[in-house]
Amino acid sequence: MALFPQPFIDELKQHADIVVVIQDYVSLKKAGATYKGLCPFHGEKTPSFHVNRDKGFFHCFGCGAGGDVFKFLELRESIAFPDAVRMLAQRFGMTLPELEQSDAQRASTAERESLLKVHEAATAWFREQLAAPGGARVRAQIAGRGVTPETSDALGLGFAPPGRETLKQALTASGFSQALLLRAGLLVQRDDGTVLDRFRNRLMIPIARETGSVIAFGGRALEPDQQPKYLNSPETPIYTKSRTLYGLNLSKAAIRESGFAVLVEGYFDYAQLFQAGFRSVVASCGTALTTQQAQQLRRFTPKVVLSFDPDAAGQGATEKSCEMLVAEGFEVNVAILPAGEDPDTYVRAHGRQGYAGRLKASRPYLDYLLDRAGARHNLRNSEGRARFVAEVLPIVERIPDRTRQELFVEAVAGKAGVAGDSIWAQVPKAVTHRGPSLSSSELPGLGQVTKAEKGLIWLLIHRPEHALAALESLDSGDLEGLACRTVLDLALKLTDDKGFSPSVLLERLNTGEAQLVTGIASESEPHVHDAAECALILKRLRYERERAVLQREIDRLQQEGAAGPGEELQALLVRKYELIQRIDELA
Ligand SMILES: [Zn+2]
Repeated sequence: MALFPQPFIDELKQHADIVVVIQDYVSLKKAGATYKGLCPFHGEKTPSFHVNRDKGFFHCFGCGAGGDVFKFLELRESIAFPDAVRMLAQRFGMTLPELEQSDAQRASTAERESLLKVHEAATAWFREQLAAPGGARVRAQIAGRGVTPETSDALGLGFAPPGRETLKQALTASGFSQALLLRAGLLVQRDDGTVLDRFRNRLMIPIARETGSVIAFGGRALEPDQQPKYLNSPETPIYTKSRTLYGLNLSKAAIRESGFAVLVEGYFDYAQLFQAGFRSVVASCGTALTTQQAQQLRRFTPKVVLSFDPDAAGQGATEKSCEMLVAEGFEVNVAILPAGEDPDTYVRAHGRQGYAGRLKASRPYLDYLLDRAGARHNLRNSEGRARFVAEVLPIVERIPDRTRQELFVEAVAGKAGVAGDSIWAQVPKAVTHRGPSLSSSELPGLGQVTKAEKGLIWLLIHRPEHALAALESLDSGDLEGLACRTVLDLALKLTDDKGFSPSVLLERLNTGEAQLVTGIASESEPHVHDAAECALILKRLRYERERAVLQREIDRLQQEGAAGPGEELQALLVRKYELIQRIDELA
């Protein structure tokens, strides 16, 4: 990745007053030491969004969003750090320095730029073909599916004519090389060496990344016997299928505002909902959602509603997507449609109001699973109840957090008319003892962070010199396993490089870490006032953790009932004694 020189970033931050930048989006009022406004990242009526001008960060007490001025633009505009830097530089009239890029990076950047250009040109050309007289029958087909010309325009639909080389001729004539068109997947090379258009006689659906740049196409067959029904672009340096959600470019703002996303399967489901005014929609395009797609969606909302055809439920992509979303910690609801209907047909038949009713009646996915399993078994006799419990128990394992597991087990118990304890007794121990499963980039919420960590982080932002001295007295073993480890490690590393400042620390945090840090830094006082005391507590916690591990090992050896204290046990007892002494010394 291209890096901007730090002095430039520092200077840019001095010019780019965070209050001024955020005021382009949110009206802020001064409230004591900070500024306050309505959060742009979640819907709210009373302001819980705070901006700290002196320390250069924002934090929302409602949804937890937080970070520095760059993070604000990254989240609000859904752009990456370098783009946030470019945007701010432009806004404040600063000239961007030459990027520090290697030759290889320059080459691949150039390649990606030309791939984007050729997709832009192809999109325009396909649209011209649709508007031309030759596109009349395709326009009629689009209209026949209930899609208006306005929607067709908004989605950028186009037409690839039946000829073998129409696109090839048009784009090479405007200066694109055949080699580039091949790399973009717009042309294919046959075994005999001939090169022709990949998409022939198809309705073309441009697939865009979040920023709106077209990176691939879906081509739908126009004749009933034409195979395959959908032909997609191959993966290229700019397009990875498993990382792309159809429609996110048009819906991200609406998803953020409404607080949820409706997930549908097909392009036409999307088109129909979009046309009916449901803007917080994305489409998975027929395949099960991937973890990367879920994580991408997660940046905009933690809640997803899936439209279900009850016949199709239990099979294929929809159920897999639900499972994965639940495992990723999403709140998942299911909107059930009548048998045989999908969002496309349903909205056309019942209109906006009808579909809105289905969304309102949507139910949590786990409840839906329970109902479905309950309907299959006779819960009036004990055998049926046992079978029901056996069927739904494996679901517990896939619920990522303990609280939701407990709620689910209670629901199972209620439905089966048995005590919750008897259900827990059947849940494998490995499951109930497992910690919350978090993706590596995600940090645990504030609840799991010790007061000493919170104290250190607060002080790092507000009284950095004290915090750094304390932090330097710790080693990596002391930080091992801490919820805030990555943040503290980063602070240590910046100190080693003589580059620490609260502002640089904020700048280097990822989204989850930024939330954590700005949340702590927004509190009026630290949890532990003295940095040295924080360090002592962390050291003691480390020894306590080590002692617990030793104790388990000692218990195990003693249970195995070695006749006398063996050498191994003896050594462990000595180490335990040493640890206790060290803990006492710290006290
Ligand atoms: Zn918020």
